[in-house]
Amino acid sequence: MYHLKVAQMSTPESRLNAFPIFMKVDGRPVVVVGNGDEALAKARLMAQSSAVLTIVAETPEPELASWTAANGVSLLREAYRPDHLAGATLAFAATGEETLDARIVADARAAGICVNAVDRPELCDFFTPALVNRAPVAIAIGTEGTGPVLAQMIRARIDRMLSPSLGRLATLAASYRAAVEALLPKGAARRGYWNEFFSGAPARAMEIGHFAEAQAAADALLARRGAVEGHIALVGAGPGAEDLLTLRAHRLLMEADVIVHDALVPEAIIAMGRRDAERIGVGKRKGCHSKSQAEINDLLVDLGRAGKRVVRLKSGDPLVFGRAGEEMAALRGAGVSYEVVPGVTAAFAAAADFELPLTLRGVSSSMVFTTGHDLKGGALPDWAKLAIAGATVAVYMGRSIAAEVATRLIDAGLSPDTAVAVVENASLPTKRLFHGTLADLPALEARSDLTGPVMTIIGDAVAGARFDTSSALAVQDRATVAA
Ligand code: SAH
Repeated sequence: MYHLKVAQMSTPESRLNAFPIFMKVDGRPVVVVGNGDEALAKARLMAQSSAVLTIVAETPEPELASWTAANGVSLLREAYRPDHLAGATLAFAATGEETLDARIVADARAAGICVNAVDRPELCDFFTPALVNRAPVAIAIGTEGTGPVLAQMIRARIDRMLSPSLGRLATLAASYRAAVEALLPKGAARRGYWNEFFSGAPARAMEIGHFAEAQAAADALLARRGAVEGHIALVGAGPGAEDLLTLRAHRLLMEADVIVHDALVPEAIIAMGRRDAERIGVGKRKGCHSKSQAEINDLLVDLGRAGKRVVRLKSGDPLVFGRAGEEMAALRGAGVSYEVVPGVTAAFAAAADFELPLTLRGVSSSMVFTTGHDLKGGALPDWAKLAIAGATVAVYMGRSIAAEVATRLIDAGLSPDTAVAVVENASLPTKRLFHGTLADLPALEARSDLTGPVMTIIGDAVAGARFDTSSALAVQDRATVAA
């Protein structure tokens, strides 16, 4: 039985021909022989370590020479001799000349030194990995030389996943190890402490560069014996396209126990969470509120008190027409810890789709974010005066009051010829772009063919947009009405 299992686990195809290990190089000599790019690439890689690096290059190329000077690496301008390798922990043959590289390899082996020959796998004792460096944490990716491009792709992916402050956090963790071992029994309690340490309050404080706060959080965690504390992240999911999510939002999503999301947030983004994360939709699409704001506030407070790590996912930026103010007040009031992660707001995504400069030299130097709903009252809101003075106006949730907005602005003195851009489903493959003037804007309200969220941008700066991929706002409408 036992033998059978071992055989299954390790078929010849699943065995590594090169096995990863981490080699101590601190203060030890490493020698790179070569004049050019390849030597420089290996030198750069090794310079991420605390090895004592020497480059042997009789006629170094200028880039190599200036790099060694700038990085305090010793450069021996000598023809290669076997004694250059004396005492080295690792050696690199990177001369680009086959016979010379082979000689270096032979010399190194004779002296018992592990050697790598660039682009000559058959001559290598070891391969260098693609490296994600969060010293003292390192992730090394190897493909046994079969796919350097693949290794770089994987490297980039892992790099995105890991906070830049992970190394500092790991160093801090090391200073707590003894105290944790003294105070918490081995097993679940200790594991719980470290889980919370690496993803809870200490990690969050380190992420924003607050070292003392991270330390205080680690102390507090120790004082309460590793018990987890809830935390709510109010996270901007961006306008819809998955890859407009920030790296921080992505990271928090992957760590969340619970994801509380609005209806506008696409499934693909919610799906970035852990498979076992609880997902709670709280509606908020026009006409179908599945939960009141007060209920959402209570839900967040309850989840926080239950020790959950929550991502409250909102479309665009959470602080732009997102009612985050009310949620933050509720969390503050209940003493539940929270943070805010910005996102790309719909106005920016719509402007990008339209190649529309929101500020335009000599034309518009200010911008207004509005819903336009305050135009319904008697007095003209201040922003309307700004619009008349040339500000670019972004109207959120403006479809149902497009006619009102247009009429009021025209009555107030904004030219009916002022340019207007409308984007439905900004940033998504289903996006549609429309252009017209303020006089055409009422047509938006009548169009029944627009079913996605719509952003309206008004102002002279709109004239700087690109119109060859957009259709007319009003003409299209007449066709729709005629049909
Ligand atoms: N917090 C969000 C706005 C929420 S209000 C943000 O910062 O973007 C909802 C309104 O945002 C919608 O009615 C619409 O006007 C706008 N909106 C959101 N996503 C959009 C998109 N992909 N395209 C166009 N408008 C969008």
